[in-house]
Amino acid sequence: MEPEAIRARIEELRRVLARYSYQYYVENQSPISDTEYDELLSELERWETAFPEFRDPESPTQVVGGGVSPDFRSVQFAKPVLSLGNLHSYEEFLEYEARVSQWLGHPTPLEWTGELKIDGLSVILDYQSGRLWRAATRGDGLVGEDVTANVRNIHAIPAQLTEPITGQFRGEVYMPLSQFEALNNARASEGLGLFANPRNAAAGSLRQLDPAITRERGLSAFIYEIRHLEDGPPVTRQSDVLHQLKAWGFPVEPHWRLCSTDEDVRAYIREFEEARPPLDFDIDGLVFKLDRLDWQAQLGATQKTPRWAMAYKFPPAEALTRVRDIVISVGRTGTLTPTAELEPVLLAGTRVSRASLHNEDILRSLDVRVGDSVFVRKAGEIIPEVVRVELGLRPPDAQPFRFPTHCPACGTPVVRVPGEAAYRCTAGLSCPAQLRESLIHFGSRDAMDIQGLGEKTVDLLLEHHLVSSVSDLYRLTFDQLVALPRFGELSAQHLIASIAGSKTRPLSRLLYGLGIRFVGEQGALTLARHFRTMAALQTADRETLEAIPDIGPRTAESVRQFFDEPANQRVLSELEALGVNMAEPDLPPPSSRGPLEGETIVLTGTLSAMTRKEAEDRLTRLGARIASSVSRATSRVIFGDKPGSKLARAEQLGIARMNEEEFLAWLATLEENP
Ligand code: NAD
Repeated sequence: MEPEAIRARIEELRRVLARYSYQYYVENQSPISDTEYDELLSELERWETAFPEFRDPESPTQVVGGGVSPDFRSVQFAKPVLSLGNLHSYEEFLEYEARVSQWLGHPTPLEWTGELKIDGLSVILDYQSGRLWRAATRGDGLVGEDVTANVRNIHAIPAQLTEPITGQFRGEVYMPLSQFEALNNARASEGLGLFANPRNAAAGSLRQLDPAITRERGLSAFIYEIRHLEDGPPVTRQSDVLHQLKAWGFPVEPHWRLCSTDEDVRAYIREFEEARPPLDFDIDGLVFKLDRLDWQAQLGATQKTPRWAMAYKFPPAEALTRVRDIVISVGRTGTLTPTAELEPVLLAGTRVSRASLHNEDILRSLDVRVGDSVFVRKAGEIIPEVVRVELGLRPPDAQPFRFPTHCPACGTPVVRVPGEAAYRCTAGLSCPAQLRESLIHFGSRDAMDIQGLGEKTVDLLLEHHLVSSVSDLYRLTFDQLVALPRFGELSAQHLIASIAGSKTRPLSRLLYGLGIRFVGEQGALTLARHFRTMAALQTADRETLEAIPDIGPRTAESVRQFFDEPANQRVLSELEALGVNMAEPDLPPPSSRGPLEGETIVLTGTLSAMTRKEAEDRLTRLGARIASSVSRATSRVIFGDKPGSKLARAEQLGIARMNEEEFLAWLATLEENP
């Protein structure tokens, strides 16, 4: 491969990993499975090892993943809060142990504390004279989020210890599986979105602003580390730490084990990988920590992980069950997706009754039939998948699955687009399944953000023939809504108000909400910023569209097709007539000439003299580029009150920093002498 192609791949991997990380740590979502994420990360690691010239200290392979939401006060850590390196087999453990023994100059075997790796999120707890005074998330490892009020509502975390000690402790907050199941059942019956897994549910319940919600969600915790201790009793080993934590009243996971020989390590792995005792929480592996704390200190850490501990990650869990049925669902753009309905089976602690079969090609190559026994796998994510059929258990009369030739929702013949694996129904919004999904998407948070327009409400509106396109939403009346079953006056008023409120969303949100194929959030923003109005976009030809950076031929073609379709043109003119905004608000005029030309500036924290937007506009007018995250390319960081992790990152990288007072003086000089 050419160096340019390698660099491009590395950059692409860094970009996608950064995006997934943000969604995972900040938005509490799992856009892809943990296994897929780990595979991308290890591909990046392989490239960086083979081509050290492309290494970057900011790469996701080098820094602790995570972020800090501006909704929380930030907490600066005196000592970085680290992640863990990974092992995937006993052999890898032995190699790691050999390396450690060499570093220490002490022969193997070494003594290890084996602990369960709880699949939750890290918390850092500060106690003063035995009383909890502050709790924080890990954030990006340098700066965390202050979640004290919420942590006070987790019963397992003691407000008062048994002794008046002062120190900092680390542990994991998790959602018990029983709690997770109950929460998702309740959400399903209220028509609310489901949490993909207990980890996301725990993160979503801790990283939100209402302590009453944390209390309701029944979170729990285990504590496993003393990060700092003032005048405490001497502890010299991790195994002592665990005993001591328990004596102080902390919840300590009881299945840990002191492993004095390699055989002990192997037995511990076997026990939890093959015949795990029933646990009411998810684990995604084990953690092996060097037992002697003086050796831990001697080994130290890299920027991302300690050298004295390793996570032993389990392979994705599999289970055997029977296929009751294969059903086809129709998505928003008409894609037909097969799903296996299963006899419920316990898989990595959660009950599974559906598994994805992805598309016809995969279904055919697996040759899954109704009645088959199949292995399903869950890699820590949303819906498990079928891995293979156990042919020895196939019933003699099982028939190969015949993919439908017609849409199961509207009967239109389906087509298979050349080059794509999926069949699609081409009926568009006249297909009830596509209409349903389009309405849900239109109202979703990142599109028109219509609160109260969840799945249940959309189903009700369709059942009562109140809507047949997105424009009909803006014609709904209070009287129509209160007449619906299970619809109170309050929810009717609320829905009408949020529909009306959505009329002012910028063009980019509307474009995204319309669900044009291949136009995601970023694409919609690019188009809206380029054309400014729907009218200008609507008349742009393919060449003009393709000439826009980041808009490829496939997207250009799809945009044209969308606007050429008479039914879509009708919906757009209806939306306009009903008062829906069709323009993108102005950005400050781009200035490439100015005293700040070539400067990339990052703002963090709250300014008191002006809004963040005003500061950005004034800097842009002077020629600066505004960036949202700090990297080596950043020229300067301007910080206001309660700055976030960006300031710490800037300090770490030695980037120029300015407080508000300095900034105002500097700005005034620049604006006077542009
Ligand atoms: P990690 O989860 O691999 O391991 C470190 C964490 O383990 C610690 O932060 C701690 O919170 C936890 N832990 C649990 N029990 C522990 C114990 N007994 N002792 C010590 N630590 C314990 O690393 P990470 O940096 O937290 O997260 C990276 C992982 O997150 C990735 O490997 C990936 O699987 C996942 N991820 C997934 C996505 C996605 O889109 N699905 C995105 C980003 C990250």
